[in-house]
Amino acid sequence: MNKEEVDVVVIGAGPSGSVASAWLNKQGYKVLVLEKIKFPRFVIGESLLPHCMDHLEAVGFLDAVKKHGFQLKTGAAFYKGDHRTDFLFKDQHSKGWTWTWQVKRADFDHILIKTAEEQGVTVKFECEVKKVECSTDKQLVVYSDVNGNETEVTAKFIIDASGYGRVLPRLFNLEEPVKTPSRSAVFCHIHDNKRTSQAGENIFIHSFNDNKAWIWAIPFSDRTTSVGVVSETELVTDMAANGGEKFIAHIRNFQDLNGRFAEEKLLFEPRLIQGYAVRSKQLFGNGYVLCGNSTEFLDPIFSSGVTLATGSGLMAAKLADRKLKGEEINWQTEYEDILRKGIDVFRSFVLGWYNGDLQTILFSKTIDPNFKRQICSVLAGYVWDETNPIVKKHEAAIKSLAKVIRMMESNPST
Ligand SMILES: Cc1cc2nc3c(=O)[nH]c(=O)nc-3n(C[C@H](O)[C@H](O)[C@H](O)COP(=O)(O)OP(=O)(O)OC[C@H]3O[C@@H](n4cnc5c(N)ncnc54)[C@H](O)[C@@H]3O)c2cc1C
Repeated sequence: MNKEEVDVVVIGAGPSGSVASAWLNKQGYKVLVLEKIKFPRFVIGESLLPHCMDHLEAVGFLDAVKKHGFQLKTGAAFYKGDHRTDFLFKDQHSKGWTWTWQVKRADFDHILIKTAEEQGVTVKFECEVKKVECSTDKQLVVYSDVNGNETEVTAKFIIDASGYGRVLPRLFNLEEPVKTPSRSAVFCHIHDNKRTSQAGENIFIHSFNDNKAWIWAIPFSDRTTSVGVVSETELVTDMAANGGEKFIAHIRNFQDLNGRFAEEKLLFEPRLIQGYAVRSKQLFGNGYVLCGNSTEFLDPIFSSGVTLATGSGLMAAKLADRKLKGEEINWQTEYEDILRKGIDVFRSFVLGWYNGDLQTILFSKTIDPNFKRQICSVLAGYVWDETNPIVKKHEAAIKSLAKVIRMMESNPST
């Protein structure tokens, strides 16, 4: 077997692995990224949040991404029947980025990892991690290349950014069942010639089926758009059957889309992702840490995935740097608890979306402007901003506000 030695192995070249590897490379470590697939490769998850700009900036990726000319995103529009609510990130409570992009991930992810490579990270594509052994100070990773040749890498530390590959959660028995109902998504890319200027920039989210289902429309700069339906697995699987027949009919005829996709050509046959939610019971161990989708993926409704991936990648890399410099790191309090805190803010929003509480708030005519600004910050990804009251008391705030709005709307004289 071939042998190699590096400081850090990063498993996966998605946004999380790119950010983590770039940060460690900047600190002078010898970093090896092992990626199973050849890039560019398709992956879903195309609407970014402003907070991820902070992470891209921290590792020097912004200029390269800017050059590509991705679709600007300045907010999000939520629809339900006759109700429409717009959130513009410039109106958020937190001090932070007020815009971001909507991206075809094949291009975006490729730019990130190429930039990391140009900065000095070694990246090996079509190299699949097969085996990992971890201990306090020496880690072994075995990967196999396209020709089936195996190489054993010795490293001081491992960052698992393998997304749905979930390499270490599988190998180290860290998978934990999710408690929410199984939900799935069916989606395609479609031409979007009828796009109005209103629909020009931002993600549209259309709620239907009594809070149980929704459609996303994520416009790209080449006048194509990503469209998907998310709901419970049974409904979505049925929509995806026979080449996505019912899904296509749905997006062509859905009343609130006003015929936007009625005659447009699809760029590829609809694809299905079943039971997308995943969770790991522990996010670190001797010699390794998990980040991105290796930790947990909740739901696509608030486009949190890439921002949590870049944020956790950066946080994990900073701690790994301190550890490699000889500091004692409390991974529970300095990493897992902090990351889970941010994920939990999104969890309250996701639960509130599907149980109707958050939709009661979002589509209320009487939403308080301060409260709207606080919600807007969460939609921008600033889920660790403790100056935001809704970040501090997310679960209780959503429940009690929805209750008050329902009372006021059922009895306007109160
Ligand atoms: C339906 C749906 C819609 C979504 N919409 C959005 C959205 O609008 N906005 C958003 O921010 N997020 C969205 N997401 C979430 C988003 O897709 C993920 O959170 C994000 O891609 C996670 O990034 P990552 O870097 O952790 O993993 P990934 O981007 O998945 O990268 C992981 C990489 O690891 C590689 N890998 C896997 N196994 C191995 C192995 N054994 N050896 C080597 N390499 C390996 C893979 O090939 C892959 O390239 C959506 C998710 C779903 C399911």
